Amino acid sequence: MSYWRKTIKPLLDDEIGTIHKQAPARVTLAFPNRYSVGMASLGYQVIYRLFNNVDGVACERTFLPDDPDAFEGTGEALPTVESGRDAGDCQLFAMSVSFELDLTNIIRTLDLAGIHPLREKRDDSDAIVMIGGPLTSSNPYPLTPFADVIAIGDGEQIVPVLAEALRDATSREDFYDLVDGMPGIFLPARHSHEPQWATAPKELLPAYSQIVTPHSELSNMFLVEAQRGCPRPCTFCLARTMYGPNRNNQGQELLDTIPDWVTKVGLVGAALSDFPHTKFVGRTLTDRGIKLGVSSIRADTVDAELAEILKAGGLRTFTVASDAPSERLRQWLKKGITTEDLLKTAQISRDLGFKGLKVYMMIGLGPENDDDITELISFTKELAKVNRIALGISPFVPKRHTPHFQDSFAGVKTIENRLKRIQKELRTTAELRNVSAKWAWVENVIARGGADVGMAAYAIYRNESIGAWKKALDDVGWVDPYEANESRIELPAGQIVRGDYGLHSPDDLAGRKVSSHAEGLAI
Ligand code: SF4
Repeated sequence: MSYWRKTIKPLLDDEIGTIHKQAPARVTLAFPNRYSVGMASLGYQVIYRLFNNVDGVACERTFLPDDPDAFEGTGEALPTVESGRDAGDCQLFAMSVSFELDLTNIIRTLDLAGIHPLREKRDDSDAIVMIGGPLTSSNPYPLTPFADVIAIGDGEQIVPVLAEALRDATSREDFYDLVDGMPGIFLPARHSHEPQWATAPKELLPAYSQIVTPHSELSNMFLVEAQRGCPRPCTFCLARTMYGPNRNNQGQELLDTIPDWVTKVGLVGAALSDFPHTKFVGRTLTDRGIKLGVSSIRADTVDAELAEILKAGGLRTFTVASDAPSERLRQWLKKGITTEDLLKTAQISRDLGFKGLKVYMMIGLGPENDDDITELISFTKELAKVNRIALGISPFVPKRHTPHFQDSFAGVKTIENRLKRIQKELRTTAELRNVSAKWAWVENVIARGGADVGMAAYAIYRNESIGAWKKALDDVGWVDPYEANESRIELPAGQIVRGDYGLHSPDDLAGRKVSSHAEGLAI
């Protein structure tokens, strides 16, 4: 039995909302990770609908198999979900990428689809490879060896342009001519630096799910985007720049997108307790007996009414972000959350019978020292006296398009030592989950790397490990341009626009021009 019939068809049979369309211009929309992860991505679902909305264009999905090695062993071509056709048999092979660590998965997905991963090895008979998604806004440069087209910014603005050009173009070069210079379009063969991001006008929002499936990580949940962007000034946060200026949708607009048969709704937004209609939407849905999920709540704006609505919507554990281990570091990040806010949220969660409070935290922040970790340990013990606490700890990874973009990474040893201390002192107090310091280092390299980092990923995509990454980075001559930098946040909130920045020294970078997009969104 084929892979499609055995593994994909049962998933397809359980979907609601699948689009079955045939048209002369075929697009394959790939997600370089498992089906369950891709189907939980609202952006991926929106792009799927947008391509299919264009006359003359039909889009089918494909995903990286759960076990790529086993799949490769079958000798089959990667199929699309909708019809089981070869995923590589299309005019445009589009990928939506959210995470830095999916870089090797992008290469693997292309390979399994029978498309040469390297742009320069492809010719006119191959599908045009387009890569979009949040990673391209953060840092498109490691993708340049692989993508013919990189789409940066809001898909609502970009996809119709690409789809119409694909339908109307008479040749590959004609397609490039039609899209060249359009908002958010980066053609690595023609340009050396990223363009302005595309920003969708409010009339094209809100984003909402196309397909609901029990096999998503957000099982049976219909997602709708309450807000895009964020007006808050947290200096470390990419969401505030990456998703463009803050655009709130109206409560009724959100409700109008939700079909009658939906039983679970996920509200998506950068800081939903700031969104003025969260309570109205939440209350309306829970009164109809619909379960509710929320992507993020700020501890300083939680109140009993909001918590009660979330409880009625079936939420069992409250989740907030502290983001820094101490009050002074939260101030340094301009997070605006105090220990008192966290204690108040723990209290509300206990009073309303929530099973616990989940707190997200970063360590390895520039000026961090042992006293900050001592404070983290001490306030976690205070929180644990109020309700059960789960602490999710991630190493801080400086990102482009934030004021921290030239900060050094704290170092694997430093982060591991701090994690060891936290684990030792809080083992019996809180449930602890942490992201590996070593993989955070790789994420940090990709987050600010150039085409050389992409080529290192290409060398190891079949056998990825920390050791393989180190060797491959040595082989391409990668050096960390930020290693010796002190943390500074007085730098402009922006990004270099010209040159192969990945290989410049920090001194070269200081004082360079920031992109007009970043200037427009500066803190
Ligand atoms: S951390 Fe949250 S509140 Fe702060 S800017 Fe980012 S999305 Fe907004």
